[in-house]
Amino acid sequence: MKRRDFLKKAAVGAVAAGAAPAVLAQSNKKIRWRMATSWPKAFDTIYGGAETVAARVKAMTGGQFEIIPYAGGELVGGLEVFDAVSQGTVQMGHTASYYYVGKNPAFGFDTAIPFGLTYRQQNAWLYNGGGIEAMRKIYAQHNIVNFPAGNTGVQMGGWFRKEVNTLADLQGLKMRIPGLGGKVMSRLGVTVQVLAGGEIYPALERGVIDATEWVGPYDDEKAGFYKVAKYYYHPGWWEPAPTLSLYVNQKAWDSLPKEYQEIVASAAAEANLDMMVDYDSKNPKALNSLVSKGVEMREFSQEILEAARKEAYALYDELAAGDAQFKSIYEGWKAFKEESDPWFNTAETSYSRFNFK
Ligand code: CA
Repeated sequence: MKRRDFLKKAAVGAVAAGAAPAVLAQSNKKIRWRMATSWPKAFDTIYGGAETVAARVKAMTGGQFEIIPYAGGELVGGLEVFDAVSQGTVQMGHTASYYYVGKNPAFGFDTAIPFGLTYRQQNAWLYNGGGIEAMRKIYAQHNIVNFPAGNTGVQMGGWFRKEVNTLADLQGLKMRIPGLGGKVMSRLGVTVQVLAGGEIYPALERGVIDATEWVGPYDDEKAGFYKVAKYYYHPGWWEPAPTLSLYVNQKAWDSLPKEYQEIVASAAAEANLDMMVDYDSKNPKALNSLVSKGVEMREFSQEILEAARKEAYALYDELAAGDAQFKSIYEGWKAFKEESDPWFNTAETSYSRFNFK
């Protein structure tokens, strides 16, 4: 009998007999792990992804497997999660893989790249389109086993002190925008600034920067950017559906009982859904609240969107030409997207266009 079948039958038997679900856990050892994250606790939607993983693993093992999440900076810096998991300083991490594109630009695909996939497409690519397997080949070189474990959905384009309508308006504009989105903006003439979270608000207030991107209405309202920049742009084409990732140190993973491995995988998948649900229920209220405070909503012009998309794909072609690993993932990813886009442009789009009015 296959193990999966055995587990199914065992679970059915337990329910029929009225036995406690802790039967499985009692046969397993007590484990306590530390999870480093890249997030402040105040960032409750994203930090919530780490908490979901910990809470579900604890519940599903009857309290036997305990994972303690730590905010960025508590154990290691927010951008040091990759190294901490890779070196085994901690057993687990919750972070965004695109923070580590400096190590390998292909990590961008694990999170989001400009003009990439939406939440539904990203999940289809990761779970069914060979995405996770492709990413795992790279992570294996760093002693990490990775899982999708959260998503923000399409982000907002951010806060601008002045309107930007044409490509000419972008020339010399000082914007805080990290990662590949920043590289594309830079190719369009924007002066890209990289600022840590806490430095953004005062820089925008004093006019040291003209614009900043952040996440979406719920997180942005808490950050208070509407008080110092009145135009709120969409969409955040550089982050259509960033996936947050759960990392497990390979040796720690190998030491887990098989049942616990299955439970970790389930908890990560649950966090991947739960964070999206959290954002999708909190963002609508926050958007209404921002509009009621006088925020001016603006959509990026076709001229800006088309030029940005052209530069994004020119950048990917350049990266693929110089990096065989990037090229191999990019080709599979692009083929998946080219097949997926026309389908999403059919029922989903015609329904959305008619209904969201
Ligand atoms: Ca962002």
